[in-house]
Amino acid sequence: MTETDALSWDPSQIHTLFELPLPELLFRAQEVHRRHFNPGQVQACTLVSIKTGACAEDCTYCSQSARYDTGLEREGLIDIEAVREAARRARASGATRLCMGAAWRGPRDRDLGTLEAMIRAVKEEGLESCLSAGLLAEGQAERLAEAGLDYFNHNLDTSASYYDQVVTTRSYEQRLEALERIRAAGMRVCCGGIVGLGESRADRVEMLATLANLPVQPQSVPVNRLIPIPGTPLEETEAVDPFEVVRTIAAARIVMPGSYVRLAAGREQMSDELQALCLSAGANSLFLGERLLTTGNPETDADRQLLHRLGMTLEPHPHRCAELEP
Ligand code: SF4
Repeated sequence: MTETDALSWDPSQIHTLFELPLPELLFRAQEVHRRHFNPGQVQACTLVSIKTGACAEDCTYCSQSARYDTGLEREGLIDIEAVREAARRARASGATRLCMGAAWRGPRDRDLGTLEAMIRAVKEEGLESCLSAGLLAEGQAERLAEAGLDYFNHNLDTSASYYDQVVTTRSYEQRLEALERIRAAGMRVCCGGIVGLGESRADRVEMLATLANLPVQPQSVPVNRLIPIPGTPLEETEAVDPFEVVRTIAAARIVMPGSYVRLAAGREQMSDELQALCLSAGANSLFLGERLLTTGNPETDADRQLLHRLGMTLEPHPHRCAELEP
């Protein structure tokens, strides 16, 4: 155990990391990264929207909230064969996980059978399965785990202090309870947040401290950069300094050494050089595929070329950190 593998993190320690000269922060993140992962490999997930738009929640960054006029076309729950086909394509492109996103406050009990069948289809195609579907009611997490769901995604979005500025229809406490429910059912947790919502560095520090100090650190930590969507309350939000994204990734790598840190939404707006810097800061997971739920993502060929130019490869099999296993 080293200084950077501390079991609990005080926000002041994470703040100190953020304040380091960038080369020093990158150096420390790279040291931690090498101890836990092959730094030349990147894990790939593909994201598919299984139910789009008309969401009852008010997340101010989201194109799928029914409260904002974003011009998004709604779509009900897609069929199981469409998920299977998405899993096949994802596997052929080199992804090892299919993430299914449903724009819901939470699944209805009557949808659970379909979700279970989707999970089984993904597993039959040889991929890890992940579902993002909001808050789970009593008993639902157990059913999904029983069907073979490997990961459930539920992001914290931001710090507890800034959260009210971003979402009001579900509380931070409910989010933390949701994470507990996922863990208790024996699934791995995918949980991260968004940089560039208008939050301060102190909020980014606080969010990372919350994530790092969970009873078990999330096995996957997506770091998203806000894509301001026309029609949402955040459409005119000023872009965050790209180096702040790099710092957030590096600090996440240091405080959650065994977690996959995913450079998630916002990559399409990044230069190749900025993405390379994020990968050098300890990001080791990407979304592969031209669409994220409702926003663009770099083309798969462009991602392959970028990784090739960087001398990096896609991780062929998921790597497990024993300390984070359910
Ligand atoms: S982020 Fe999820 S819960 Fe929030 S509005 Fe969008 S789809 Fe709904």
